[in-house]
Amino acid sequence: MANLADYNIEEQYHAIVKKTERLSPDGTEEVREMILEVIEKEFQPEVDQSFGVLVAASGDFGNSYHHRLYSVADIPSNKKGKTRITLLVKRCSYVDDFSGELYEGVASNYLCDRKPGDEITITGPFDLPFKVPEDKNSNLILIGMGTGIAPFRAFIKHIYNDVKDWKGKIRLFYGARSGLELLYLNDKDGDLTNYYDQDTFKAFNALSPRPAWSDPIALDAAIEERAVEILEMLSQSNTYIYVAGYKKIKDNLDKAFTNIMGSKEKWGTRKAELIAGKKWAEVIY
Ligand SMILES: Cc1cc2nc3c(=O)[nH]c(=O)nc-3n(C[C@H](O)[C@H](O)[C@H](O)COP(=O)(O)OP(=O)(O)OC[C@H]3O[C@@H](n4cnc5c(N)ncnc54)[C@H](O)[C@@H]3O)c2cc1C
Repeated sequence: MANLADYNIEEQYHAIVKKTERLSPDGTEEVREMILEVIEKEFQPEVDQSFGVLVAASGDFGNSYHHRLYSVADIPSNKKGKTRITLLVKRCSYVDDFSGELYEGVASNYLCDRKPGDEITITGPFDLPFKVPEDKNSNLILIGMGTGIAPFRAFIKHIYNDVKDWKGKIRLFYGARSGLELLYLNDKDGDLTNYYDQDTFKAFNALSPRPAWSDPIALDAAIEERAVEILEMLSQSNTYIYVAGYKKIKDNLDKAFTNIMGSKEKWGTRKAELIAGKKWAEVIY
């Protein structure tokens, strides 16, 4: 992935917040779904893209921007000629290692605090590495923890809505507290319910029993529980693995695949093959 500083922020666009809704229950980490309506017609993001959010900040040399990326979380729609995009955002905060003080993440807090009617400045769109394979018999193992579900929600919808006649298996592992899972299982807006019955699609909750909803502790268990099927998929050359979410899922994932493959070496070799064949893609943040 390119460094954030390499993304073009000269070309700026504007969007109005049409809807902002908290998905996660009170008392858990705040995750919101937001719908933005883009003012400029030429800004046309697609599934498998992200876009930037710019927050004005005072830098050392005068005004500058804080720039962060957010995945397109649904197929963009068009209302009266205006493009609408959906994003999922988690309100981030972190404790400074040195001072021990709690800091709020700039862009995520800015977004979570926006109200309907507010205008925000956006950039992009920028490509994500999750491409739909040309061969419709390809198998896809999608792992989206926390807000990492955002790109896959749009991706799966796109496959069943637009690409059609998908023959390969799609297995989605996700981990989020109740509220978020509604988005793709039993969606109140009728979202992925249609696809849930598809012969090819299955989704598995890798929800942690711990209170922090993004904690990926149960991911390895969820994958290992389905070891037979996952191993069979991994034995086929047309299987892709796409991963999105927080950094800490990486170790957990390697552990799970090492366990089901039987050794670190076997998983190392298979993963190298996937990477070499462009069948492994990840967005880790
Ligand atoms: C391609 C891509 C797609 C993304 N998609 C989404 C998405 O769909 N939804 C979503 O919510 N996020 C997504 N992200 C993450 C998002 O871009 C932001 O990184 C996130 O929202 C935090 O940004 P922030 O400005 O709020 O926090 P920042 O102000 O950047 O800082 C907070 C974060 O930085 C780290 N940090 C910085 N300084 C310190 C320090 N001194 N000590 C410890 N930790 C520190 C911490 O990990 C903390 O979480 C995506 C990222 C990428 C690269």
